[in-house]
Formats: sequence, structure tokens, C-alpha cells
Amino acid sequence: MAILPHHKYPLRSLEHVPTCHHPSWSRARVTCSATTTGTKLRSNPDQLIIELRLDQLSCRNASPLLNYPNLLSTWSHRAWVSTGCTTVLISLAKSMVAAANSHIWLEPMSAGYIGYNLSDLGSGVYHWGIDNYGDTSTLIFGSQIEAFQGHHKWLWTITRRQFANNSHALARAITFVVLPIDILCDDPTLQGFVGVCSGCIIFSQQFHAWAHGTKSKLPTPVVALQEAGVLVSRTQHSAHHRQPYNNNYCIMSGIWNEFLDKQKVFEALEMVLFFKLGVRPRSWSEPISDWTEETETPSPMH
Ligand SMILES: [Zn+2]
Ligand SMILES: [Zn+2]
Repeated sequence: MAILPHHKYPLRSLEHVPTCHHPSWSRARVTCSATTTGTKLRSNPDQLIIELRLDQLSCRNASPLLNYPNLLSTWSHRAWVSTGCTTVLISLAKSMVAAANSHIWLEPMSAGYIGYNLSDLGSGVYHWGIDNYGDTSTLIFGSQIEAFQGHHKWLWTITRRQFANNSHALARAITFVVLPIDILCDDPTLQGFVGVCSGCIIFSQQFHAWAHGTKSKLPTPVVALQEAGVLVSRTQHSAHHRQPYNNNYCIMSGIWNEFLDKQKVFEALEMVLFFKLGVRPRSWSEPISDWTEETETPSPMH
């Protein structure tokens, strides 16, 4: 049984309140009312209320293509991505300048490599958390939980979201975390770690989107990086979207996936949370409709 209510809005921007304004959807409703209810229904206030409620319910379950504008980047999305990337660049620049001045390069470069690897682990822990716990009303993370649940249902949407639309939420979080570090810290090693780790976090959703791409349509360097294991591979991530839906959570490079899955790290954490707090993860309730892909072909007269 599903833990979350069955209404997802995977394509909306993260702070957007879901609505159903698509003109073709409205046309579909008019056609439906005219052919099935007639004049008598429209004169009955009770049935009108029922019809309105059905309309709202249908909007909630509408195919994502009906909300196509929500795939596009807004100026607000672009502004957050710009500020997030700026804070990352400042961090990297400060690391390089301090390293050049002190002639210490090994530590900042090693710290950057650790940052790259830990960003993958962080992406896995975060993804596991929002895939399995909380719901749309959860404080701070509710919109992310909703978006990831929607992604499980309509996989293809992530490949059609514009870059800033897909990445602005992470960029905003990085801005608030990294900006104070930029201002307060001059240590080349710490800045090397922070710059690489936060940069990978901002772009992780883009790497995730590429993992859903078709090889022939992806840029050649991206395919090369995926096949070299620098970015999460399409094969590895596709396993996350198949039963039993409880593995391959890391979406940056995927380097941690094998270890975490073989050692059953997330399963152990789920047991601890269950016995300590009595909370069941969604992955224990498989298969549920919230996790399975809908393969319907969106139609303008759906
Ligand atoms: Zn997932
Ligand atoms: Zn995915």
C-alpha cells in the first residue's frame, strides 16, 4: 500500500503551486461534459460540484506534458544557478590562489578528489532519504520528495527539463552554505574540498538527467565520461528504476553504489529507523504505483 497520496507534480518548479491551466485540457473537459452529462447535469448544483471535484482530481493526475511550461527555466532559476556557480568558482579560485602563494598543491588537490567522491555518497544518502521517507507536507524537503516521486513515475521528464529548471534548487542551497565559507575561509585545502564538492552537487541533477539520456543523443564527451565512471552511467542508474527499487541511489558518479548495495548499508539504516522510530521506508512496500513508471503517451485530448 502506498504511503504517499497518489498525486504527483514532477514537472513543476520546486516552489510552484500545481494548477491545471493547459488549454487543451480545458477543451477535453468541455468535450467530456457535453457528451456525457448534457444540459440536465449543468443545471444540477450537486452534480456540478462533483464534476468540479473530478476535474480537480484529474488535473492532479494529469500527464506531465500538460504542464509543459514547468519544464522551462525561469529567470529566477537562472539567477539561483548563477549565484550558486559563482560561489563555487570563488571557492575554487581562493583555493588556487592560496595554493599558488603557499606552493602547497597536493593537499588542495587531494581535498578536491575527496570532495568529488563524497558528493556522490551525499547524493546517494539524500536520494535514499527523500525516496523513502516523508511526504509532500514534509518541512523543507516536501517539494523535493514530490519531485523525486514524480520522477519515478515519469522518467522521461528529466531529459526535457531545461538545465536551470532542473538544478536551481540545489544551486540555491549551495549558495547559502558556500557563500559564508567563501567570505570567512582562506585555507586552500578546505576551499579545494568545498569548491569541488559543491560544484558536483549543483551539477548532480544534470548528471542524473544524462543518465536517462539516449547514447546516440548525448554529447560524445558525456558518453565518454559515463563509460569511464566519472559520471553515473546509464546502465547503473537504470537499475534504480527497476524492481526492487531499493538500490543505486547515488547519482553523481555512482562510485559508491556497489559498496552501499553489497554491504546493504541503506537496508541496515532502514532497520535502525524502523526499530528506533517505527517508520517504514517506502521501498518495503514494493511494488507500489508511486514507484512504477507510467508509460502512457500524453495526448492533447487525454
Ligand atoms: Zn529514486
Ligand atoms: Zn532517475
